[in-house]
Amino acid sequence: MDDIATIAALRTRLDADRAAGRRIGFVPTMGFLHEGHLRLVDAARAANDVVVLSVFVNPLQFAPGEDFERYPRNIDRDRTLAQARGVDVVFAPPREEMYPEPIELRVMAGSTASLWEGAVRPGHFDGVLTVVAKLLNIVEPDVAYFGQKDIQQVTLVRAMVRDLNMRTALHVMPTVRETDGLAMSSRNVYLTPPQRSAARALSQSLQAIVVAWRNGEHNTAALIERAQSLVAAEPLVTPDYIAVVEPQRLHATDRAERGNIAMIAARVGTTRLIDNMILDE
Ligand code: AMP
Repeated sequence: MDDIATIAALRTRLDADRAAGRRIGFVPTMGFLHEGHLRLVDAARAANDVVVLSVFVNPLQFAPGEDFERYPRNIDRDRTLAQARGVDVVFAPPREEMYPEPIELRVMAGSTASLWEGAVRPGHFDGVLTVVAKLLNIVEPDVAYFGQKDIQQVTLVRAMVRDLNMRTALHVMPTVRETDGLAMSSRNVYLTPPQRSAARALSQSLQAIVVAWRNGEHNTAALIERAQSLVAAEPLVTPDYIAVVEPQRLHATDRAERGNIAMIAARVGTTRLIDNMILDE
């Protein structure tokens, strides 16, 4: 496995792969890898000749006061895990490599970015799209792999790739969960044992929506109410939003249809967690 920190060195390596006709799969992450990330790696490994994994905690997508400084990092462990899953190249650039000062411009996300996560975290998706655009321009992968867990991110990256005519194909992988249903996240390490236990309420409330929908309840307000009452029973969990949305632009629906997405964001202590489930999986 190659460990590369500069854009120039990565390009030299990948240009050679491309010249040899090798197909490049790319998994962008912020590191502190867990099984959710590694399933993206597995999918990339299965369908490409070269697998590139980036590890970069992107300062642009954190607002002042968010957890940029304390975001969990362990690059040595990430390297070991990546190597064991067959990653060919780890790209872990320092901040100055990605953002030499001054930063003149960034990608501006469209209206979908003002909803949900974007409403709670203004500017977050501009930061996400800027780093994803840079990484796609640097790696020029045939396919890039993203997780369903960050549904709004996937929706906006898809829009960017389409609107800016990027060549990369996107592949979205299902959310990987702990055995009790909690969606895996690097941020789960912030949770104290009581908070970790309470955090089950997120996936349970989404599951309740899915089950009620399967049983014929298609009124969105009624579905959300069920989820809200489950979350309300858990005093350590404070929801930011619970919603049922259509998959194209994530607009809330009145009647929940197959393919709609139930979403939740909640704070557990100082940790913000998000999750979603598709009707009907
Ligand atoms: P992050 O390191 O949190 O920026 O995530 C990097 C990629 O892994 C993103 O495409 C995420 O959507 C994806 N991802 C994170 N957690 C999970 C999970 N539990 N299941 C599937 N994909 C995930």
